[in-house]
Amino acid sequence: MAAQDLKASAAARPRLIRNAYDVLVVGAGFAGAVMAERLASDGGKRVLVVDRRPHIGGNAYDEMDASGLLIHRYGPHIFHTNSAEVFAYLSRFTRWRPYEHRVLAQVGDQQVPIPINRTTLNQLYGLALNTEAEAAAWLQARAEPVSPIKTSEDVVVSAVGRELYETFFRGYTRKQWGLDPSELDRSVTARVPTRINTDDRYFTDAFQVMPLDGYTRMFERLLDHPNIEVRTGVDYREVAGQVDVEHLVFTGPIDEFFDHRYGRLPYRSLRFENMTLDQPQAQSVATINYPDEATPQTRVTEYKHLTGQTHPKTSLTYEYPSAEGDPYYPVPRPENHELYKRYEALALARPDVSFVGRLATYRYYNIDQVVGQALAAYRRLPQRLNRSSAASVAAAGSEG
Ligand code: FAD
Ligand code: UDP
Repeated sequence: MAAQDLKASAAARPRLIRNAYDVLVVGAGFAGAVMAERLASDGGKRVLVVDRRPHIGGNAYDEMDASGLLIHRYGPHIFHTNSAEVFAYLSRFTRWRPYEHRVLAQVGDQQVPIPINRTTLNQLYGLALNTEAEAAAWLQARAEPVSPIKTSEDVVVSAVGRELYETFFRGYTRKQWGLDPSELDRSVTARVPTRINTDDRYFTDAFQVMPLDGYTRMFERLLDHPNIEVRTGVDYREVAGQVDVEHLVFTGPIDEFFDHRYGRLPYRSLRFENMTLDQPQAQSVATINYPDEATPQTRVTEYKHLTGQTHPKTSLTYEYPSAEGDPYYPVPRPENHELYKRYEALALARPDVSFVGRLATYRYYNIDQVVGQALAAYRRLPQRLNRSSAASVAAAGSEG
């Protein structure tokens, strides 16, 4: 945007009215949108939501591309949860389409199912393991006991042995995180289980569905309330001094909120490359993973599998990990957790602010976990609001 356009759009935007809101929510992703919805429709609060991006939805934002295919701007988002509460809550804002995610890993010239299951072993090694007991015994003979299991290397090597670890996990993880699996918490690769049956679904959650009209439409409905005003393209810093609110919900990076006082928390980023092919389908499943370290992309996703869209063309996203760019992933390892704890201590001393979401709590959370976290944070809020007004009364008293 040219400088004069920027000025014009700033002038066109009505000024904020100082006392028009009770709560300011920073971020219009799942954490911010759920908090805003609860505060407005359950709590009767007047809510201002700002997001510095030009749209709502956070990382789950989806949109039509130039060919009219629905794509996800920040990489593929597949909804899955075991929480009946989270599913019921979100179901108020969208209808769903059933979708079970499947992923193949490119190993040499073969494409085999990941998570590793009995079919993976049979295809890769030309075996005929017919029962769970046979698959378990085969893996058992290769697994290397590790005690205690601490790192992302330990988890996999102790389950399937070094060869399968190197085939499927070492290269992918080194690319994705810029770290060796031995330098990451066990929780990272533990997201991907090992199976002795032939279940080739990526997730086994009770609810596996995609929003029928897309994520962005679901966010529009979440935020559609007379007590909610949304301003996109607006950073927290631009409004911080302009509004007078009783409470702040912050869903951005926690270290940024505290001006990186203790140094930067590491986040991993990605570069997304989208392409549209003049053919109805490109891949047999939604996602192909590329565990080979020499291949630059980690995975390629074809959206039509997720969305069910019918179209003569098809769009795909290649994911290339990167140290620079938007903060997408907290990096789970002990020293980062220590640093986060120091920021968390600052957060705990701020009853006037709720820190919610993947960046504000530095947790490698999926959508459903963020929604669950936001619902829980809202439930705790009345107590917090009381504490914060008690604190400001006390502060006013000590000043006087
Ligand atoms: P975000 O979506 O990051 O929202 C935070 C918002 O705050 C952002 O829009 C940001 O612009 C805004 N913001 C930050 N600071 C400021 C500021 N100072 N002023 C104004 N605005 C600010 N989860 C799944 O369940 N399934 C998946 O398949 C899945 N795939 C994923 C794939 C990728 C590539 C990534 C990165 C994540 C994936 N996730 C998936 C995780 C999912 O994206 C998150 O759990 C969820 O979107 C987090 O929501 P959030 O509101 O915490 O954060
Ligand atoms: N992983 C891997 N090989 C794979 C799939 C996953 O090594 O084929 C590891 C990698 O470290 C990855 C982590 O497991 O970051 C979690 O995978 P997941 O698919 O859950 O990642 P996300 O969808 O969150 O990017």
